[in-house]
Amino acid sequence: MNKSYSQLLTDIESGEIISIILIPNRREVIVEFINGQKNLIPIFYNDQKILRISEEYNVPLTVRDIRSEQRLANLITGFGLTLIFVLSLSFLIRRSSKLLSNMRGFASRSSQVNEDDIKKYTFDDVAGLNEESDELNEIVTFLKNPQKLIDLGAITPKGVLLVGPPGTGKTLLARAIAGEADVPFFSISASEFVEMFVGVGASRVRDLFRSAKSKSPCIVFIDEIDSIGRQRGAGIGGGNDEREQTLNQLLTEMDGFETNNGVIVIAATNRPDVLDQALTRPGRFDRRIYISLPDRKARHKILSVHARSKPLSDSVNLMDWATKTPGFSGADLQNLLNEAAIYTARNNKQSISNIELDSALEKARFGLLSKPLSDSTKKRQIAYQIIGKSLVALLIPSPEKLEKISLFKSPGDISGMTYFMPDEETIDSGLLTRNYIYSKIVISLGSRAAEIIVFGSKEVTQGSQKDLENVYFWANQMVTKFGFSDLGPIAYGSERESIFLGKDIMKNRKEYSQKTSKEIDMHIISIANNAINDAIRLLSDKVSLMDTLVEELIVNETLESEYIVSSLNSFLSN
Ligand code: ATP
Repeated sequence: MNKSYSQLLTDIESGEIISIILIPNRREVIVEFINGQKNLIPIFYNDQKILRISEEYNVPLTVRDIRSEQRLANLITGFGLTLIFVLSLSFLIRRSSKLLSNMRGFASRSSQVNEDDIKKYTFDDVAGLNEESDELNEIVTFLKNPQKLIDLGAITPKGVLLVGPPGTGKTLLARAIAGEADVPFFSISASEFVEMFVGVGASRVRDLFRSAKSKSPCIVFIDEIDSIGRQRGAGIGGGNDEREQTLNQLLTEMDGFETNNGVIVIAATNRPDVLDQALTRPGRFDRRIYISLPDRKARHKILSVHARSKPLSDSVNLMDWATKTPGFSGADLQNLLNEAAIYTARNNKQSISNIELDSALEKARFGLLSKPLSDSTKKRQIAYQIIGKSLVALLIPSPEKLEKISLFKSPGDISGMTYFMPDEETIDSGLLTRNYIYSKIVISLGSRAAEIIVFGSKEVTQGSQKDLENVYFWANQMVTKFGFSDLGPIAYGSERESIFLGKDIMKNRKEYSQKTSKEIDMHIISIANNAINDAIRLLSDKVSLMDTLVEELIVNETLESEYIVSSLNSFLSN
């Protein structure tokens, strides 16, 4: 308990206190009592009374100068602060040097692939490949035995461009070339070159080529070359961005190769049209290997390659599945078998059957389907839309064959599904006839036509909105791009330059008069009106057939095309 000043004086007088320590600059005394207890008591500034009374009552009084203690404390505090400052400074320096070394690390990171990590691929792994391709053989021969070509005075390729849609096996082919020639394979995706720090991409390119040269002969594979190889000076940002520096560095590296130094750069792209011309000129990526979507035979081979490691039930005929998958890439086919294997495991089966492959195919085409509506009036209207569309598809000549219809919906869609088998020949050739496109428009309007006939034009729904969007797309293409209308064989508003945002904005987009623009609109509308009239004409005398098929669809939720075809045939023969 703290004592008061007056109590202190009384205690001195009564002999209770045996010693006093005076601390003048704190204006305090520490007093020690007979019973050993110590107390800290405040006193007055320059207090003379306490001096007098302690002398009078013979209480020893010592004076403590705490300035030296304070100096020590100040010294310690100062030292502590300096230490903290030095530590934080060194922490900051270490962090920034770590950042710098990370930046340097970006340059080399993932540009070098450990050869042992890669499974060695051969041409056998790339199903459906045209192994006779001169370019492939030339590259492999050179990599295997560079001297042979050098002795003949031949200049070997520096760069090869693999061009093809996504998932067609470009990376796989590049790996197989390395595997066949038994040389190291360095790979990087061009998008990895472009970091947020300007100059890192260029330094990565340098690093990649330095490593490659030290291991020549070898292959450097650059995926997605279009992400750095786009035409320079085309974007809004002008001509000095990170991407351009990286591209310039790549061009410099390729020029810097001595001829026949054993490094072959293989780049892959699915947009060869956007590449800078400097990349494709002789001496750089002057050789191209086109890889297209696999045809039926190639799809069969790809399925066979990927089925090697999967147990298939005896009933599965891979050629049937190759027939059912036009337009699928190698990656899609691999995914199809993979999904089927997952369904098989889910069904607790030992081998993959056609049922699982069927579910996997449905998922690959439409994503996960959701359950149909339970409400019967709306469900009925959706059923009429689907039946209308499928009947028009069967009644109008079209290369796309109806496969089946279903009340199940794909994500984001409100109506059901009408499955068509894409036409192999159309995909292969890429050629679309005027009739084919017009039939697509009429089929798309089959759902709207059925609604008009059955429910009346005021009761139609927006359920066929996606179909209507397709109608506009194709009618617009017919008029403005393909020269399929009375407006003449002209492509209006060529898009050749528009892939570059910068150029597109700078360009005067109006390439035709307002009058032509109006006429284009009129022709698009007229195509759509003709098509809906055709669809209505095809369906108007088949209301009873539609009624029957709608009932069947509501009960079964899915109908195969064979059933619809036979119903249609028996209806037509009556
Ligand atoms: P992207 O352009 O998207 O990079 P890509 O053309 O490089 O695709 P890859 O990555 O080589 O395609 O192929 C993806 C997968 O598809 C591979 O893992 C491979 O298993 C399979 N695949 C593609 N084409 C074939 C083929 N011809 N034979 C066997 N498998 C193939």
